Amino acid sequence: MKQPAGSGQWRNWAGTATATPARWAQPRTEAEISAAVKGAAAAGLQVRALGSGHSFTPAAATAGLALDLSLWTGITAADTQTGLVTARSGTTLRALNAAAAEFGLALANLGDIDAQTIAGALSTGTHGTGARLGGLATQVEALDLVLADGSLVSCSASAWPELFAAARVGLGAVGVITAVTLRCVPSFTLAADERPMPVEQVIEQFDSLAAANDHFEFYWFPYGRQALVKRNNRLAPDGRAPSARMPGWRRVWEFEVMENAAFGTLCRLGRAVPRLIPKLNRLSSAALSARSYTDASYRVFVTPRRVHFVESEYAVPRESLADVLGELRRAVPRLAEPVMFPVEVRVAAADDIWLSTGYGRDTAYVAIHQYTGLPYRAYFDLFESVVAEAAGRPHWGKMHSLDAARLGPLYPRFDDFRQVRAQVDPEDRFGNPYLSRVFGPAG
Ligand SMILES: Cc1cc2nc3c(=O)[nH]c(=O)nc-3n(C[C@H](O)[C@H](O)[C@H](O)COP(=O)(O)OP(=O)(O)OC[C@H]3O[C@@H](n4cnc5c(N)ncnc54)[C@H](O)[C@@H]3O)c2cc1C
Repeated sequence: MKQPAGSGQWRNWAGTATATPARWAQPRTEAEISAAVKGAAAAGLQVRALGSGHSFTPAAATAGLALDLSLWTGITAADTQTGLVTARSGTTLRALNAAAAEFGLALANLGDIDAQTIAGALSTGTHGTGARLGGLATQVEALDLVLADGSLVSCSASAWPELFAAARVGLGAVGVITAVTLRCVPSFTLAADERPMPVEQVIEQFDSLAAANDHFEFYWFPYGRQALVKRNNRLAPDGRAPSARMPGWRRVWEFEVMENAAFGTLCRLGRAVPRLIPKLNRLSSAALSARSYTDASYRVFVTPRRVHFVESEYAVPRESLADVLGELRRAVPRLAEPVMFPVEVRVAAADDIWLSTGYGRDTAYVAIHQYTGLPYRAYFDLFESVVAEAAGRPHWGKMHSLDAARLGPLYPRFDDFRQVRAQVDPEDRFGNPYLSRVFGPAG
């Protein structure tokens, strides 16, 4: 978690990245953001904008200026006719969802949590699930940015389209996003249905499950036979069934007690006695149970995640998912160090954003996790070798070992991105070691 401005160390949520910035700034206006960038340039410091620290990679880490945008928040415009909502870049998804709902608007799709800032989530290609929908960045209509020279610019599909293509998923490499205009949809209700199914059956029926549901995903505990299949479907505007809303006490029981407290206890036991992990994992798998409820979309998409973990996630072409999972199912039980956390599988439609993991192909996302404090290296290496066969693209905010030489061939517009970066940030003002690794030198 990041520290208050002005104080020593920065640390991410997962504890996998730390940094000691030479300087902190906590701007309250665009002019202050611009002045902070210019001041850093004058002092020869690099600059990173901080989100909520929920990336597992050191994407936000800096030894230069840490730009804490937690006071740069709120919605500045909302148009109920067009659905366009403009938010300051430090606004968290939680605050954004709540504010949009007041205007009868919602984001069409979201990921699992809402603690991220809108700019941080966009910058790493954050996504949810839905075969007909893209990630968060596909919902962006326009961006305002402070560039390396301190100038404030706007971009969209019609105004400076190359900058727009680069900045929507750009790890903050081309500038500090100050405002995001999103195309929202009218508020909607989701009917959630979650139930266990044999994992073979889910893989066999994957395409039809993805096609038949607005938002489909599944979890599978590596040593178990059951998957937990989640189907979230939109109700027609008048289809709200208030009686099916989960009562508050049950939400606490299901999400806090069962998914966080009880699972956290199992994880701690597994960490203390690792040879028990396959058994505990099968126990978690056997304990999966069915539940259905309806609620406002953003309350269904998002669940609390209090048990800390490390994660890697790759986007693979949809058609290679069965091979990837087949290989993982064969190889994981042979690992010397057992795996405590489930694998999560989601889907997204192809998009045209240069560095989006869904660029140009219908995508299946495979995410692997390990409980904090348990060894994960061999598992993550194994996973990377499996997804490499399928031209997998790593989530920009989750753990991976790829560099520019490996990433370039995976993205047809990689060089276009690098050109825009060289044009707007020739001195690598927004660089850090992670960006150097994944994009190469800036100039
Ligand atoms: C528990 C948990 C659940 C998650 N669930 C999902 C999920 O469902 N789907 C998914 O795709 N991902 C998921 N993630 C990953 C997460 O969405 C991304 O890592 C996201 O980038 C985190 O946003 P943040 O605000 O914490 O940004 P940070 O991690 O703080 O920063 C991310 C990047 O954005 C840059 N940045 C931040 N603000 C700005 C700005 N104003 N201008 C320019 N650049 C900026 C930073 O410099 C950095 O490079 C999850 C992570 C965790 C820990």
